[in-house]
Amino acid sequence: MLDLTKIGKNLKEKIAEVSETGDSHNTGRIIYSGDGIVRISGLSGVKYNELLNVKGGYRALALNLEEDSVGAVLFSGEDKVRFGDYVYATGSTAEMKVGEELLGRIVNPLGEPLDGLGEIHSEKTRPVEFPAPAIMDRGKVNKPLQTGILAIDSMIPIGRGQRELIIGDRQTGKTAIAVDTILNQKEENVICIYVSIGQKASSLSKTVNVLRDGGAMKYTCIICSTADDSAPMQYLAPYSGCALAEYFMYQGKDVLIVYDDLSKHAVAYRAMSLLLKRPAGREAYPGDVFYLHSRLLERAAKLSAEKGGGSITALPIVETLAGDISAYIPTNVISITDGQIYLESELFNSGVRPAVNVGLSVSRVGGSAQRKAVRRISGQLRINLAQYRELAIFMQFGSDLDAETQKILSRGAKLTNVLKQRRYLNYSVKEMIVLLLTVQSHVVDSVPEKKIGEYTEGLLDYFRINRADLMEKIDPDAEVTEELSKDILAAAEEYLNYSIGDNSQRSINDV
Ligand code: ATP
Ligand code: MG
Repeated sequence: MLDLTKIGKNLKEKIAEVSETGDSHNTGRIIYSGDGIVRISGLSGVKYNELLNVKGGYRALALNLEEDSVGAVLFSGEDKVRFGDYVYATGSTAEMKVGEELLGRIVNPLGEPLDGLGEIHSEKTRPVEFPAPAIMDRGKVNKPLQTGILAIDSMIPIGRGQRELIIGDRQTGKTAIAVDTILNQKEENVICIYVSIGQKASSLSKTVNVLRDGGAMKYTCIICSTADDSAPMQYLAPYSGCALAEYFMYQGKDVLIVYDDLSKHAVAYRAMSLLLKRPAGREAYPGDVFYLHSRLLERAAKLSAEKGGGSITALPIVETLAGDISAYIPTNVISITDGQIYLESELFNSGVRPAVNVGLSVSRVGGSAQRKAVRRISGQLRINLAQYRELAIFMQFGSDLDAETQKILSRGAKLTNVLKQRRYLNYSVKEMIVLLLTVQSHVVDSVPEKKIGEYTEGLLDYFRINRADLMEKIDPDAEVTEELSKDILAAAEEYLNYSIGDNSQRSINDV
């Protein structure tokens, strides 16, 4: 007769002896691989977002922790890993190399150099995912981030620690604004980080050359994932960039970070999520795509003085389709950021460059950080422009216009022209003040509309060379006095008489 109780007892004892070995805790084996996704059995002790080492020297990121397996995305080697290959948990979440050594370098989202300038000797790392600064640790945005672009600094000012979205269709000059802003930080003591996400290698190489030739690499780091990089690499890039930015921010420095662009980031994340079989929502994006960007952009902040007063200013870029800003990703990012610079293809194609639509662009916090003199002078600018645009529509009906209306129209047209700005031609604050004062005064009334661009360009040269004394007197942080503004306008008129008169052949040095 079988003694059932004895057998049961024996079995219980045997089972109790079986303990979970360290092996199944930290080691697993691949049971599925396809499209850059691997499913791993074992790895019972793995964390969310943990970096995994796959046999063959490849790396993966654990994203789905399920009851009987772990879903992970491969950074590389998706056609090399095989069924049954061993996978080892590293115990740490993804980390980015940080340090001053990264300035001037081009790296991938894991901090590995791509520029052939040798290894980066930095021992310091920071986790790629990190909580945003707490409310109590934040200070008020009170220092401007000068872009050097007149239309932006006067009407859509950006403060250090702000998040300002650059949004527009393809080829409307989005990257140009961000890159020109980086170039303008040469004397501003701002560290810049340019994160390229899923861009064409050719566009990226153009940007790199512009930054290099403009002497901006001294204070800039480029983190790049091109269109042919795996989706996980593209997904990781902005977080890596942010980790590097945080390293500098917590040292009390000011940082500018450009995410070019977050639409491609969302697309990369959608690809990963769908392959991981997460449920799809609106436009097939997963449910947490809002959180994807909000947790990234919340990390940009201005720290309080007790915390060192550092800041991260973020300029995320989002591409729209046919100007549709009510699509899913644009509305998400608009609601997260502190304002947007809206670029329009029609403006761009009609020669208004930068193609900023002033009516649809806002900056919700930058106003308080704007230089006092600029704020005062540009107060009227938006209203003047809006008035002009409204009248310009009526003008198309060809009705008779009184003198006052004609004046508004002609000044508006000239103002629009002055806001056009070539690339790499950044204005200093003082130059902006001279331009804004002149273009809103009676002085420009006698400049023919076609000559306004020529006039203002010459005017700045004239002020630089001949009226350095006046430039010296301008204090951007104080209101321009009545007297000084009179002097500036007198000088502008002086140059006008000379440049529009018969003497236009003479050099400005002769005046
Ligand atoms: P994409 O959608 O391809 O990323 P984008 O919106 O980033 O395009 P850019 O690449 O910045 O646009 O600019 C498109 C072209 O317009 C470039 O050749 C650039 O040199 C030109 N451009 C941009 N801004 C200006 C400007 N202010 N004046 C003259 N040309 C400009
Ligand atoms: Mg671009």
